Amino acid sequence: MTITAAKELLNYIGGEWRRSSASDYLEVRNPATAETIAKVPLSAQAEVNEAVQKAHGAYLEWRQVPVTERIQPLFKLKALLEEHLDELAKTITNECGKTYAESVGELRRGIENVEVACGAPLLMQGYNNEDVARGIDEQMIRQPLGVVAAITPFNFPGMIPLWFLPYAVATGNAFVLKPSEKVPMTTQYLYRLLKQAGFPTGVLSLINGGKETVDALLDHPLVKGVSFVGSTPVARYIYSRATANGKRAQCQGGAKNPAVVLPDADMAMATRILADSAFGCAGQRCLATSAIITVGEARGEFTERIVADAASRKVGYGLQEEVQMGPVISADSKARIESLVDKGVQEGAKLLLDGRGKPVAGEEFRNGYFTHPTVLDEVNPKSTFATTEIFGPVLSLMQADTFEEAIEIANLRAYGNQACLFTSSGAAAREFRHKVQAGNIGINLGVAAPMAFFPFSGWGESFFGDLHAQAHHGVEFYTQTKVVVERWPNTWSRKF
Ligand code: NAD
Repeated sequence: MTITAAKELLNYIGGEWRRSSASDYLEVRNPATAETIAKVPLSAQAEVNEAVQKAHGAYLEWRQVPVTERIQPLFKLKALLEEHLDELAKTITNECGKTYAESVGELRRGIENVEVACGAPLLMQGYNNEDVARGIDEQMIRQPLGVVAAITPFNFPGMIPLWFLPYAVATGNAFVLKPSEKVPMTTQYLYRLLKQAGFPTGVLSLINGGKETVDALLDHPLVKGVSFVGSTPVARYIYSRATANGKRAQCQGGAKNPAVVLPDADMAMATRILADSAFGCAGQRCLATSAIITVGEARGEFTERIVADAASRKVGYGLQEEVQMGPVISADSKARIESLVDKGVQEGAKLLLDGRGKPVAGEEFRNGYFTHPTVLDEVNPKSTFATTEIFGPVLSLMQADTFEEAIEIANLRAYGNQACLFTSSGAAAREFRHKVQAGNIGINLGVAAPMAFFPFSGWGESFFGDLHAQAHHGVEFYTQTKVVVERWPNTWSRKF
């Protein structure tokens, strides 16, 4: 099932792999080498319409299949994902750049969602009351929405589609995925496994493309729900357009995650965890820590340790065993990240470690989109640099005299995806949890990614909507409640 080089990627519509009728294609590149590895079609409105119509037909049948039967293909999918983990992980690394271990890690989190969605018979239960009035009973049941769509970003091609797909289909919807055009190969692989898992024709569709494809989904009257993950401006746009068209929407946006280090923290542990948070996946995680605020005397030792860790990080091709950090996604991304470092310096920050312009070993990686870890100190918390999402391996260090001041700095940004605290004090942890304005909190953790049985709780500009991805929130998002109030006059016994 290896996807061959520079292959033209296909759509999956009505249970068939199809060549797109698109007139425009984009090149998919391996970010470690800049080599073109596939061509992805930018599907137009007519193709979206066909996929949605077919999905709608499938939904009308699928919603009648008992939930205990609807979850059976998910059990098969779980087994197939385990069986193909290695090849899937290599596909992720080759199109997205992260290390093999990071690719396996994201697949594990995706598989977890498949497992949790297998609990749909319990998760989608309603509730009832007998005798809400004399002889009258009332119940709430959950029914699927119809056709639902997901639009996903480049940084987790294996995991993010699985934040949505398992819950959508387990609850009786038909699901259409529009993956990131930068990393569409993992999804091709995933859909081949989905076909083997035995979902009925049309329940799952895959449509490749860009903005025009997305807009066609947002405007299609038969699409009833839209799940999105990506940057904040696009999240805001998608939320507005989908909801203006009367659809449900859950849109996860960008981030700029702070961490606070108190003087009583275990400095060796804090450094190891925060270095992984800041530089893991080349800083391209929506839960990457990008700003660290040290309090009082934590500054000296922590700064020394984090700079040493950043400088020692082995950067290179993600399939090489000793490599700890891969390239960023594209040449544009590298240029944007590196120019933002200049902006930070212009705004007064001190460059402690400059990761720009450093080579990686191997002639074949000469053109790869590598930029090494960069650390800036004395960053002004109110500067543009401190409040802009960089989405690369660039860490800002800030200082506070007191814990209260550190929390104030952490709350300055409009994003609210994650905030972390490093301390050995339970009371400090409790206060932080209470006061900090973010939906995912880590205490002595640097990537506080909720397990699949908790909602992924972004706040502020990191999330537009009400119900988040995963678990109960996912099930609630993909179902609408129906309340039935019923009276049955007691006349039947007279007939017998
Ligand atoms: P992006 O917003 O550029 O693209 C995401 C998706 O939206 C892609 O499928 C793309 O084709 C589509 N898209 C892009 N521009 C569009 C437009 N104008 N109209 C309609 N559709 C459009 O994001 P990206 O660069 O792929 O991903 C990185 C971003 O995702 C970062 O900001 C990161 O923080 C964020 N992210 C957030 C989370 C989270 O849980 N909050 C998780 C992962 C990534």
